[in-house]
Amino acid sequence: MTTPPRAPAMARPSRSAPRPPSPVPALAHLLIWGGAAAVLALWWSDTTSVVGAAGWVTGAGRITGLLAGYACAMLLMLMARVPLLDRAVGTDRLARWHAMGGRYTVSLASAHVLLIIWGYSLESHTGVVDQTTTLVLHYPDLLKGTIGFLLFLITGIVSARAVRRRVTYETWHFLHFATYLAVFLAFGHQLSNGADFVGNRPAQLAWYALYLGVAALLAWYRFAVPVRRALRHRLYVAEVRPEAPGIVSVYLSGSGLEELRAEPGQFFRWRFLTRGMWWAANPYSLSAAPHPAYLRITVKASGGHSAALARLRPGTRVLAEGPYGGFTARRRRARKSLLLGGGVGITPLRTLFETLPGEVALIYRARRPEDLALRGEIDALAAARGAAVHYVVDEPVAYSSPLTPEALRGLVPDLAERDVYLCGPPAMTEVAVTALRGAGVPRRRIHHESFSF
Ligand SMILES: Cc1cc2nc3c(=O)[nH]c(=O)nc-3n(C[C@H](O)[C@H](O)[C@H](O)COP(=O)(O)OP(=O)(O)OC[C@H]3O[C@@H](n4cnc5c(N)ncnc54)[C@H](O)[C@@H]3O)c2cc1C
Repeated sequence: MTTPPRAPAMARPSRSAPRPPSPVPALAHLLIWGGAAAVLALWWSDTTSVVGAAGWVTGAGRITGLLAGYACAMLLMLMARVPLLDRAVGTDRLARWHAMGGRYTVSLASAHVLLIIWGYSLESHTGVVDQTTTLVLHYPDLLKGTIGFLLFLITGIVSARAVRRRVTYETWHFLHFATYLAVFLAFGHQLSNGADFVGNRPAQLAWYALYLGVAALLAWYRFAVPVRRALRHRLYVAEVRPEAPGIVSVYLSGSGLEELRAEPGQFFRWRFLTRGMWWAANPYSLSAAPHPAYLRITVKASGGHSAALARLRPGTRVLAEGPYGGFTARRRRARKSLLLGGGVGITPLRTLFETLPGEVALIYRARRPEDLALRGEIDALAAARGAAVHYVVDEPVAYSSPLTPEALRGLVPDLAERDVYLCGPPAMTEVAVTALRGAGVPRRRIHHESFSF
């Protein structure tokens, strides 16, 4: 078993020049909206005339149904963890797109159900209850479709912000798996009842290609790649070291770690194969530059999983999914950077502080001096690369400094010329973004990593 060194070896800052913004996020938007336009074109090309109220209502039901079916595939694609998308857009931003898209999709699917029932009952002059029963029980694949819709609706409700706050992360996460079943159950009725698909072979083939393509991405990136990596790297816990009150570092070793091509600022989802932990895979960022012999994470006890890390035994096997995230040197636009971290948000910044090219300054905020984890190695890194570090603590008040444009400019006078990498608790991030904007940093040069999806 490899024993990690007393202090992590220092990586050299990379020499790469700042890059222009990646075109991938804009291309992804274009593709998603282009696909939606193609779906509308399918309805348009199939519709010769719309007659009367029933025709309009049913037509609206068909459009919302087509768009909901398309959006389901896009929602799954966003969560397929495709490396190109993940690095260029960022996992947290993809999760936000997914959450927003989820709200639209549930609304579209609900509108589709209501409009189709209403349109058909207008057409056949029957009541909505009779019409609903007929549709669900006598139309092909509609019973399965209805179950799929209900599952989807429940997931949507549980994901709504007010309810989400009351359920545990695990409940919310496992319920999300139900959406795979929901999409599977709802697929058949689209082709067997959808007026735009019945008798339209090219449209049917395109729909199969869309869904099978997304299923292949999910199977590859969420299942095959992690399994292949687990077998190849055979990660295990090498050591657990206390860093500060309630904060530990976990060193992980394995074979061929350099093949993971992890970048400073990225994170993995870690599954520790020990009692009470094997069923959860929680995200933690690398807190030292990836080393061929080990990886390191530094974790603050904030709940069951993070607290249990302090009790891990050396030799415990680990499955790591990743590396994920776009909070890396690739985001750099300027020659100088400021890293602004709060609490355990220091972890990805500590790694960037080690490796980011150009002139770098670090502001590290914590509640108390003893909460400043990794301080010794941050000082050593600062000395090695001649970088400025400012520690700011809330207590004692005499050492405190507010998060205002003036205070930030006081610490880093050329702030407006820098990229800013920001990671901390959500409330701090919000205040910091306002202060940075007030100090003249353009939004496109403020890069932040969120520790909650
Ligand atoms: C990209 C990223 C990088 C992170 N890096 C670090 C780090 O370097 N060091 C560190 O101490 N913390 C980090 N976190 C936060 C850490 O993942 C959570 O604090 C931890 O998972 C909480 O789990 P728990 O069981 O201890 O607490 P709980 O009380 O169960 O969870 C508290 C909150 O943590 C979040 N959370 C829990 N489980 C997960 C999960 N599987 N996936 C996503 N979010 C979850 C949820 O918002 C939840 O409400 C990171 C989070 C993200 C998203």
